[in-house]
Amino acid sequence: MREAAVRLQRIAEEMLSEVERLPPALINWIPRQGVWSVMDILCHIREFIPFWTGETVRIARRPEEAWGRDHTDTGRLAAVTNTAAYELDDVAADIRRFARESAETLNGLSDADLSIEATSKNPRWGRKPASFVVDHLLVGHVEKHLGQIRRNAAQFSQLVFPAAPLSLLPVRGRSERIAIRRIFCVGRNYEAHAREMGVAVDREAPFYFTKAAEHYVASGSTVPYPPGTSNYHYEMELVAVIGAPVFRVPADRALDAVFGYTCGLDMTRRDLQFAAREQKRPWDLGKDVEQSAVLGEVVRAADIDHPREGRIELRVNGEVRQQSDISLLIHSVPEIVAHLSTFYHLQPGDVIYTGTPEGVGPVKPGDRLAGSIAAVGTIELTIAAPETV
Ligand code: MN
Repeated sequence: MREAAVRLQRIAEEMLSEVERLPPALINWIPRQGVWSVMDILCHIREFIPFWTGETVRIARRPEEAWGRDHTDTGRLAAVTNTAAYELDDVAADIRRFARESAETLNGLSDADLSIEATSKNPRWGRKPASFVVDHLLVGHVEKHLGQIRRNAAQFSQLVFPAAPLSLLPVRGRSERIAIRRIFCVGRNYEAHAREMGVAVDREAPFYFTKAAEHYVASGSTVPYPPGTSNYHYEMELVAVIGAPVFRVPADRALDAVFGYTCGLDMTRRDLQFAAREQKRPWDLGKDVEQSAVLGEVVRAADIDHPREGRIELRVNGEVRQQSDISLLIHSVPEIVAHLSTFYHLQPGDVIYTGTPEGVGPVKPGDRLAGSIAAVGTIELTIAAPETV
């Protein structure tokens, strides 16, 4: 039952990473009488993950027994008393461990096990299969409480809707991360790629498109094949991360503003990009795609120096599809930063995709992408089936 296990771990991780970015004062804040604090909710989740995992196994193994509990059960009520005494780190570590253990347990069950039915102690539910417990009392249950956490956060900060979570990039050798501010992308910056796109290179000046920061996904993620396309493409790229504010900086000083580098995949709905190009319309639907800005770990220029040459490569399912050298960039990183800074006040956390070499191509569900740039790092992405709802 890999899918259920993956979903539980994913939603638990999403919840914890959001909670860990909340202001500390919000964790034990009670919006009003009768409403749980974030810590209450976390303690409740810490209690129910092992409980409902055990009940899932019980239904599959001993369906003649009644499962679950009723409202007189003191176990669940005890989970939400005096929670302000707990440390967030401890509770989060417990939830991570329980979610991992639960995923291992669920992995040990077959689809046939999950279809076994038993009667609940709660008359509202009656007779249900083990999969009901997984879907509603584990995964759906955590999702419901994540919504509650977001509502607390929104009220705490006086926003009408919760603020979007920050998109945070890991940095090699540091526990602090970089909040992504804007994502700029250079178009057609390798001659051979421009040729395969059927267009001439503009050597005069680079051109750009952008992606929303919230489309960031971390290297190692699995993303669904996106909607609205039947030609989703990979583009492996060197990415520069700005570390200091610059405006109208000359190229010979532009690298001072570059904090570091990482590997990026600029995932692209090629069919929509081409359709837009032909109709002289903007590229947004082709490029500004949810979960399309894949980025690896940032390495500091102070640690590796500014890379001017080195192999850039992308493999799909182990087979090399893109290989080039970053020395073949038409517009170099300092030239790009200098040029872009004539249009924007570049800020720390701005991210610049520098363009992809030749060899771009389509992906399909199940594909595993693995890219690398010499001295910079590696990046991975797995494509899953399209969403069905
Ligand atoms: Mn690109």
